[in-house]
Amino acid sequence: MAQTLPSVCPLDCGDTCSMTVTVEADQLVNVRGSRVNPLTRGAVCAKVTHYPELVHGPDRPRVPLRRVGPKGEGRFEPVTWETALDLIYERFTEIREHFGAEAIVPLNYAGPHGFLAGGSMDFRFFYKLGASRLARRPLCGGIKAEAFAGTYGAVPTMRPEHVAHARLIMVWGNNITVSQLHLMPPIIEAQKQGAKLVVIDPRRVQVARRADLHLAIKPGTDVMLAWALAAELERLGGLDHDFIAEHVLGAEAFMVQARQVTVVKAAAECGVPESQIRQLAEMYHTISPAVIVPGNGPERNQNGGSGWRAVFALPALAGKFGALGGGLLQGASASFPKTTPTLQGEAFIAPHTRTLNIVHMGRDLLDAHLDPPIKGLFIYNHNPVIVHPDQNRMKRGLLREDLFTVVSDIVMTDSAAYADVVLPACSHFEHAELYPAYGQHFLQRAEPVMPPVGEALPNTELFRRLAARFGFSEPEFRATDAELMDEALALDDVRLHGLRPSQLPTDKALLMTFDGEDAMLFKTTFPRTPSGKVELQSESLERMYGQPLPTYRPVESPYPLALISPSSDQRTTSTFGGLSYSDRVWLDMHPQDAEVRQIADGMLVRLWNELGEVFLPARLTDTICPGVVSSDKGAWFRTSSNGQTVSALAPGHTADLSEGACYNDARVEVEPYRG
Ligand code: SF4
Repeated sequence: MAQTLPSVCPLDCGDTCSMTVTVEADQLVNVRGSRVNPLTRGAVCAKVTHYPELVHGPDRPRVPLRRVGPKGEGRFEPVTWETALDLIYERFTEIREHFGAEAIVPLNYAGPHGFLAGGSMDFRFFYKLGASRLARRPLCGGIKAEAFAGTYGAVPTMRPEHVAHARLIMVWGNNITVSQLHLMPPIIEAQKQGAKLVVIDPRRVQVARRADLHLAIKPGTDVMLAWALAAELERLGGLDHDFIAEHVLGAEAFMVQARQVTVVKAAAECGVPESQIRQLAEMYHTISPAVIVPGNGPERNQNGGSGWRAVFALPALAGKFGALGGGLLQGASASFPKTTPTLQGEAFIAPHTRTLNIVHMGRDLLDAHLDPPIKGLFIYNHNPVIVHPDQNRMKRGLLREDLFTVVSDIVMTDSAAYADVVLPACSHFEHAELYPAYGQHFLQRAEPVMPPVGEALPNTELFRRLAARFGFSEPEFRATDAELMDEALALDDVRLHGLRPSQLPTDKALLMTFDGEDAMLFKTTFPRTPSGKVELQSESLERMYGQPLPTYRPVESPYPLALISPSSDQRTTSTFGGLSYSDRVWLDMHPQDAEVRQIADGMLVRLWNELGEVFLPARLTDTICPGVVSSDKGAWFRTSSNGQTVSALAPGHTADLSEGACYNDARVEVEPYRG
């Protein structure tokens, strides 16, 4: 008999929707939204309706596997869990003895986002093992987070629902209908009340179609636009000098830079009309509450940190905080009373353990002088050959015969083809989980809704068993899932109302408040910078990155077109990329750029640079600005005739902050494919 049960979406998406799922004879048959989470209110995006196909599809490994063919070919034979764990134990022990434990690297990212699967027992295991640590955030989101933390500290700003109270909404590099779906109702509500909507994006994305003003900015030039807006605001008398005197550090140093960037100069660099910059400055000066809603696109370039710092300066300079619906809508991670060091067992970290940057993983795998070299890799919650920049280098690294690679996943990803051992992982429907969020303020918990498929294990149990195989005898390695949940959050936090996280009801979402009120920067939450002020000039960013103030460096390349690879409405990063419904990939190109290259709509084209070449059908559209081409990220090799996707064209250099990935610095040429 069919059962309907509560669940939560674990994907790398800020919304963390509550779900109702239907299960029949241990099979997931339907996924839809539930109203448990008051933000997501019964709506989910279309891609998660494909979960039944993902969970029960033919590409799901059901037992552990051992490689039998050449690396990358994807030929395996089934083995028992005991054999698989023995193999890992033997090879990792050999590597530790010959090269030291740091020669082993956990290569995990943000596949599932719950506390348990996302980083708990696995971290304890790798810390105790002595493996290299991994800086993960530089791959996505880390640049913006660092820019925000350097300016305001790690502090919650406002609830997304409060955007409904804004009278001016500036959506900056955020394709909301794809990447933050549940922000649309508050935006629509605000517009019904007369709010103005401005969208800053190289593409006329769906939300831009309902905007009063759309600035089709060239990728990587956001800092120029923000500087020009600051200078124009000053000219209009729009700086809030009282607020600046009381709450802002480095405003004059920032303005000295901003005044160098005239509207004329910014318009030329950003590729937008001067009149639009002046109009936006006028709107921002005269309309309140005004809120900036940032996305992730503008961080993906070498000026990414500077761009965000300059954008984040605007509400402080103009005194836009403290009013409901005003200020800045930035991530919600800091809303939750997390006890990450306990959950992840940071006490097990040996002093001086090295940390590798995830962005450089392809380079590091091929670096013969890295000391110690990487000899063992454990990939989970991640599909690196599809997701990382400089895809061909990553592939060459994974092809190394002397590299021992384990992949644990719920499906046979393109990266799994490079594994020596594949382990079947549980989907989030098959284990209990506790969910914070990075885009909204509700804590949620879910129970498993079905038994594991085949012999799949949740991450917690996999690493519990590995810890036992390695003889790790501390009680931390025997913690149950319920105990791990209770170690994820501060139990004495009043917002838990005395409940243990493992006992949170699954039919309720728990709102994180501040002294009983909603987060509102400069009302209920305050900057957590070293000075306690908004730091437009930052000593900490100077110390870490040599960047006391924002900077700007144009990309120099012999290739004329900027290639961006934004989020897709078919996949969450690469999740669902193995399903046939998400095989539609194309290159969006402005008709002007197409005409000079004699490219017609639907024609197969070759795009290339010094890193690789990709073949895609062209889709001619004036929704993208001239000089920029776009293809959605996360498509798998099944969509490619030559084993390369857009990630193959993304450079390996890093940004001004966080050493973050610069996907949008890809520059390419495009021509008709001549066979
Ligand atoms: S991917 Fe995002 S919008 Fe879609 S169901 Fe999951 S949390 Fe909701």
